[in-house]
Amino acid sequence: MIEDLRRTKIVATLGPATESNEALDALIKAGVDVVRLNFSHGSAEEHLARAEKVREIAKNNHRHIAILADLQGPKIRLEHFKNGSIELKNGSHFCLNVDCGINDGDQYQVGITYKALPREVKKYDVLLLDDGRIVLKVMLVDGAKINCQVIVGGMLSDSKGINLKGGGLSAEALTEKDKADIVTAAKLNAEYIGVSFPRNADDLNSARQLLRDAGGNGGVVAKIERAEALDNLENIIDASDAVMVARGDLGVEIGDANLPAIQKKIIKMARHRNCVVITATQMMESMRDNPIPTRAEVFDVANAVLDGTDAVMLSAESATGLFPSQTVLAMSDICLNAEQEARASQSNHRLNSTFNRVDEAIAMASMYTANHLGVRAIAALTETGSTPLWMSRISSGIPIYALSRHESTSRKVSLYRGVFPVYFPTIDANHAEANLKAIDLLKKQGVVEDGDFVIITKGDLMGADGGTNAMKIVEVGQMAKFVG
Ligand code: PEP
Repeated sequence: MIEDLRRTKIVATLGPATESNEALDALIKAGVDVVRLNFSHGSAEEHLARAEKVREIAKNNHRHIAILADLQGPKIRLEHFKNGSIELKNGSHFCLNVDCGINDGDQYQVGITYKALPREVKKYDVLLLDDGRIVLKVMLVDGAKINCQVIVGGMLSDSKGINLKGGGLSAEALTEKDKADIVTAAKLNAEYIGVSFPRNADDLNSARQLLRDAGGNGGVVAKIERAEALDNLENIIDASDAVMVARGDLGVEIGDANLPAIQKKIIKMARHRNCVVITATQMMESMRDNPIPTRAEVFDVANAVLDGTDAVMLSAESATGLFPSQTVLAMSDICLNAEQEARASQSNHRLNSTFNRVDEAIAMASMYTANHLGVRAIAALTETGSTPLWMSRISSGIPIYALSRHESTSRKVSLYRGVFPVYFPTIDANHAEANLKAIDLLKKQGVVEDGDFVIITKGDLMGADGGTNAMKIVEVGQMAKFVG
């Protein structure tokens, strides 16, 4: 009996709730595929130690887990209040003041981290604080002071985020802190870095260059969380290895009601342009405090799966919540069930596309064959993971096993929908032997059995990057007799 595999991947943010070895082990056993280190918190030493621990526990569990080092970016925040928090009343006046001391906030004013803000807002602009819970209208900008009227009040505490409704702030995507954090990400060999608040493709290109200069090999994830990123979406996608629908900040800037349509658009466009896509933020929010999700959350995760996302992400649920591993299990169950829906594996074979590369053409031909012949599995012998990436852009219910000798490739592909990494050190065998070894390995893992058809892809020159130029269909159990 071959078990169902979950095709949609789960990204979980680490934090105090998943700090202990036991909690991390439980999270990995529950099925996390990628862990996110949030560089908004913690020192370089802490991130390096955490990454080492993740890899050790993943190895003990025979899992390939990718690390996403998520940079803080130019998140604009309040400074601190003298008493930690205040309560703002509707209709009252409140001032955001660049010149206010960082711990001197009170009932009338508070400091802000982005010193250029007074030059970038004007009368009647709307500022959204604490993810939009508090709404201020700008009434007068006077030098360093932004005098506002409180439209929606409530409790306001230290360091809450500030967004300008509709977007348009010019803050650079990479801060000095981000540049230093990229060096740390390179040191810990992060498979991905997350670039927060990118405005355009240049922001991604700069981050990639800084990562390469620091010796890092990882991919670049663009977090789509600014209104202006939506105007440059195609270029941002083309400059990224993955994009994240970062629904928190994006929802604050463009309005939550606009998010569902934007999520569908980003997922569709990313997949079409051979990019990976993560859907993030508040997917299982109620599970921070409760052992089961709400029905709305079940629908949200399932709908992201049906939209075609590669991965769904947990933030506070796994970083500070009471039930981190239970949340992963619940999310996994929702994904598995949603994937049973026929729409989740309905293929669109790009029949009108032309391909620029031989390996891409082989990947597409394999998916067409797999979806039409009824094969059990695809085994892609891969150096860099490119062939499984292309394969996974075509929807299918057939598992794509990425057989690689490189641990970094195995970890990287663990983010791709429907792709499952398998360690495969063979490159010096002849082709018939390599095929036999690949099938034997999948058989030992219990994912194929005699009589199954399997598609194998590889290059004439095994071990060469981008060299995939062949696809072979084999029947499990019928191969040994052809090998000398
Ligand atoms: C978001 O805003 O949805 C998001 C993922 O960003 P952050 O890193 O602030 O959680």
